[in-house]
Amino acid sequence: MSDLLDLAQHQHYPAAALYIVATPIGNAADITLRALHLLGLAERIAAEDTRNTGQLLSRYGIDKPLIPVHEHNERTAAQRIVEYLHAGERVAYVSDAGTPGISDPGAKLVDAVREAGFTIVPLPGASAITTALSVTGDWAPTCTFLGFLPSKAKQRAASLQRLATHPHAMVFYEAPHRIVDTVQALADAFGGARRLFIARELTKLHEALKSCTLAEGPTWLKEDANRQRGEFVLVVEGAPLAPADTDAQTHDALIAMLLEEMSVSAAARIAASITGASRHALYERALALKND
Ligand code: SAM
Repeated sequence: MSDLLDLAQHQHYPAAALYIVATPIGNAADITLRALHLLGLAERIAAEDTRNTGQLLSRYGIDKPLIPVHEHNERTAAQRIVEYLHAGERVAYVSDAGTPGISDPGAKLVDAVREAGFTIVPLPGASAITTALSVTGDWAPTCTFLGFLPSKAKQRAASLQRLATHPHAMVFYEAPHRIVDTVQALADAFGGARRLFIARELTKLHEALKSCTLAEGPTWLKEDANRQRGEFVLVVEGAPLAPADTDAQTHDALIAMLLEEMSVSAAARIAASITGASRHALYERALALKND
């Protein structure tokens, strides 16, 4: 442990730099040693909610001047931070929970500080999206992060309609008062058969993980009112591959296997006779795979 603390301390943390620091998403122990060291080193800590961050810092025995930087003042506050950087200070930015800039303020601050020519250093740590994906299972190897859906039913339905053919798993954040409606809207837009993963209250006392189908989601949530409380990440399976995509994947797998034993033209000839697909098209594909 003390070796690790040494490691955190001995890294060079340049002056006149902005540090984007991840904080826990529930369990206060989920903070990194680098984050603790840097928060202790920074001359100032900019925070989405200074009260909330003040409480977090006091748990770690850190007392620093705090600057409020939230979604309503981010651009103007960024100019103030740039002035502190001009004075050679290290400024840390923390959002309310998790990683700044991920459905949280921080991105505009990063833009302004980069524009002003100062160094920006990310200190990674907890985020609800990565925490949920780490326990989703094998059916979401690629995904698109979409954050919060629109809160109005009509706009939400329109957004989901546009996503109905999206081929990758989709990750959404959702608040407790909308969770049932949102899961129902997902089932209405995508059909009930797709997989759904509900990650509720991650890292907290009442953490709950549920893997089911979209059709089963609303029922599970409504079975117990407690299941609708807290914070949620939803992971939804992408649209099934169209038959043409499935064929292309099968052809690629076959050609790849044949290429291990024979030339490009022989692989194309045999693949064409097995699948009935165009020999010319398979030759082009075999050539591309060979050159890969
Ligand atoms: N910056 C944060 C991150 O890195 O995950 C996200 C902030 S966003 C304003 C808050 C939303 O993140 C919540 O409404 C919820 O959807 C999700 N979230 C945050 N903490 C969570 C937790 N402990 N369990 C489940 N979802 C969480």
